[in-house]
Amino acid sequence: MQVKKEGPLLHSRIIRHYCTIALLHCTSLDNLSLIGYNIPMNTHFDIIIVGAGPAGLTAAIYACRAGLKTAVLEKNMPGGQMNLAERVDNYPGFSEISGIELTGKMLEQAERLGAHVFYGAAERLTLASEPKTVVMESETLTAQAIILAMGAGAKKLGLKNEQELLGSGISYCATCDGMFFKNRDVLIAGSGKTAALDAEYLAPIVNKLYIADKGSLAHIKCDKAEKIEDAEIIRLSGNPLASVTLAYKDGKTRDITVSGLFVAVGYAPNSFIVSGQVELGEKGYIVTDEKLKTNLDGVYAAGDIRSGAMHQIVVACADGAIAATEAAKWVKKVVR
Ligand SMILES: Cc1cc2nc3c(=O)[nH]c(=O)nc-3n(C[C@H](O)[C@H](O)[C@H](O)COP(=O)(O)OP(=O)(O)OC[C@H]3O[C@@H](n4cnc5c(N)ncnc54)[C@H](O)[C@@H]3O)c2cc1C
Repeated sequence: MQVKKEGPLLHSRIIRHYCTIALLHCTSLDNLSLIGYNIPMNTHFDIIIVGAGPAGLTAAIYACRAGLKTAVLEKNMPGGQMNLAERVDNYPGFSEISGIELTGKMLEQAERLGAHVFYGAAERLTLASEPKTVVMESETLTAQAIILAMGAGAKKLGLKNEQELLGSGISYCATCDGMFFKNRDVLIAGSGKTAALDAEYLAPIVNKLYIADKGSLAHIKCDKAEKIEDAEIIRLSGNPLASVTLAYKDGKTRDITVSGLFVAVGYAPNSFIVSGQVELGEKGYIVTDEKLKTNLDGVYAAGDIRSGAMHQIVVACADGAIAATEAAKWVKKVVR
């Protein structure tokens, strides 16, 4: 992985990434299989679960317990969005636990039951065929059933250098990265609930705080913030970020000097890799029936990626359990 010279955020994210991987695997040397050192030679599975967030890990637990040979694919680190929750106090059984610790427990349980976790992105899926195929960068896996548990992530602004500034001034998570901007000038892009929470969180930390949005910001209560309404970010300058350019509806522009930009323009499902194969509903969420089956036999969706799901860990886990139980019935009835 390439490490940029500038940008405390990127360094922190990479360090966090490897610390988490280390933390998640410190329980047993057997767990080295999880980081790809012991990939099984036979790449045909009963079930492949794409995504190792709480939905995917719970699906793996249930699939393994149902006797299925189970693969879980994860492109970043297990736990998904759960890792961003510093404190989870609404997951039954734990009055308070960090997201990363909860991830470690779920991952350990899935692996102990026999799940093979592959680190890498599912890049192409063929879902209507028998068996179904999942192509990764250096691996092609097949299975009789697939659970799509790719979750959701922060929406991007869509600006050309946005990706390269990630970790060098741009962040999609104020609670994760806010402290890196202590006493510095930052701008929040967005006007929804996340933007409001970000403003509340960042106000006591940063020096100057701006909030900008294409629409109205009247509903955002933050005395410290300078609100910039009816304005869209059109340019990001510097690397690390040094300023943003805003364009107002009347065509005028304004440059604002900031070292941080917190993007809070909503969430979107990670469903683009299956678009055109499974039915997608409003905003790209995957449509399922009440048993979490998609429009394709043997293909299920669980967690935040599913249309109508409440975006909570406990719901993602419940979805994973239902999807894996239904997938197991499919594998046993049709294939075995
Ligand atoms: C900051 C924050 C705090 C939160 N706090 C709480 C809380 O306190 N309590 C609570 O109940 N909920 C909380 N949530 C919500 C909760 O984390 C999510 O609802 C839950 O994680 C959704 O689980 P999921 O498994 O469906 O998806 P995700 O957690 O999004 O996991 C999906 C996984 O799939 C992987 N993936 C995506 N595409 C691919 C691909 N092509 N190939 C391989 N892998 C892929 C991703 O990398 C990710 O690891 C919080 C969310 C955030 C962002």
